[in-house]
Amino acid sequence: MSTSPFDAWITNDDEVSSLLSQEWNRQTSTLQLIASENFASPAVLAATGSVLTNKYAEGYPGRRYYGGNQIIDEVEDLARRRLTALFGADHANVQPHCGANANVAVYQALLDAGDTILAMRLDQGGHLTHGSPVSVTSKYWHFVSYGVTPRSDDPDAPGEHIDFDNVRDLAMQHRPKLIVAGATAYARLIDPAPFREIADEVGALLMFDSAHVAGLIAGGSHPNPVPYADVVTFTTHKTLRGPRGGAILCREEYAKKVDMAVFPGQQGGPLEHVIAAKAVSFREAAQPSFSVYTDQIVKNSKAFGAALAGEGFRLVSGGTDNHMAVLDLRDFDAELTGKEAQEALDRAGITTNRNQIPDDPRSPFITSGLRVGTAAETTAGMKEAQFVTVAALMARALRSRGDDAAIAKIRAEVAELCGAFNPYAGFTKL
Ligand SMILES: *Cc1c(COP(=O)(O)O)cnc(C)c1O
Repeated sequence: MSTSPFDAWITNDDEVSSLLSQEWNRQTSTLQLIASENFASPAVLAATGSVLTNKYAEGYPGRRYYGGNQIIDEVEDLARRRLTALFGADHANVQPHCGANANVAVYQALLDAGDTILAMRLDQGGHLTHGSPVSVTSKYWHFVSYGVTPRSDDPDAPGEHIDFDNVRDLAMQHRPKLIVAGATAYARLIDPAPFREIADEVGALLMFDSAHVAGLIAGGSHPNPVPYADVVTFTTHKTLRGPRGGAILCREEYAKKVDMAVFPGQQGGPLEHVIAAKAVSFREAAQPSFSVYTDQIVKNSKAFGAALAGEGFRLVSGGTDNHMAVLDLRDFDAELTGKEAQEALDRAGITTNRNQIPDDPRSPFITSGLRVGTAAETTAGMKEAQFVTVAALMARALRSRGDDAAIAKIRAEVAELCGAFNPYAGFTKL
């Protein structure tokens, strides 16, 4: 087992040190295909592990409740400046601890309890914070949900794309105060323009939740929602490849309300070490090499999707425009559930997550689908050819899921492939 170069300072705790090494080994010897994950750069990891973790900084730059924040103010200001420049936004709040906090803060900033929000249905790709019964969001606000068009076998009109007639009809009928665009399990490009049109027709505000695709937007591979949306929320750790966290961009007129909703509305002291790491990632995302990276993510995803289709999986919506594919497993094997597939792939060293597909007959815990993504392994350097190989390995693992020897052989092939594409190759010491 290789030792992680990042735990070299943990000399006083063998138990944690050993767990970090084991996780380093898992991440670098198995395939990371979870669409919401990535490999942050050593610079991002270093900032996250810095002494900034020691500082209390409730409030915002220039208006803190604690002393000693002169340098911290510069860190947070730098992060905000880099972020507004990256997306061309008026105002940025970089304090949300995660994407869910960012969304709830926006609802709190712009709405009163009980107001209506129109967002995407969960089984069609929406996020828990888009009104799931198990999310606090559904307890404070009234959600109405739009969906995707029906599935069709016509390759030129495959269906399962956002149904804008449905969005408009529901908007007309329910007059929401806020429309939410954006999804967590949707493989198609989300055009902000028709959402803006519909929002204007009914006098609603528009929030674009770009959690998954923020990196693709920053790299110019997907359209920027900032000119269309009143507020844009996102996570910093998915395609954007920063530390775990959230952020909010908004028009100047909502800046004060959004800031108040994050702190003191939602959170206490900000994680300034994470904010420093966010600043590092925003700079990385502004480099020309980041656009090359995000274009490659999409190219890899298209090649991966086509190869998976060739193996007999049905791609929900008929393909992919972003970093992910949502697979309907029933065409591959009517008996195979998402849960069973995820577990079999895990044994073969292929990390994925089960996911509901539109109108899934199975529960969210079992599911008929699987979600895969290319952002992490593209960071590790994999190209189209490797993703074609990965598709074949996945199909083999699922076909031979009852055969331990076959699974062990696939796991060895996976480890060899990952050995050739280590995202931290060359970094032996921080
Ligand atoms: C991931 C995600 C979130 C939440 O992010 P967390 O950091 O996990 O809280 C919100 N919205 C969408 C669309 C997401 O995909």
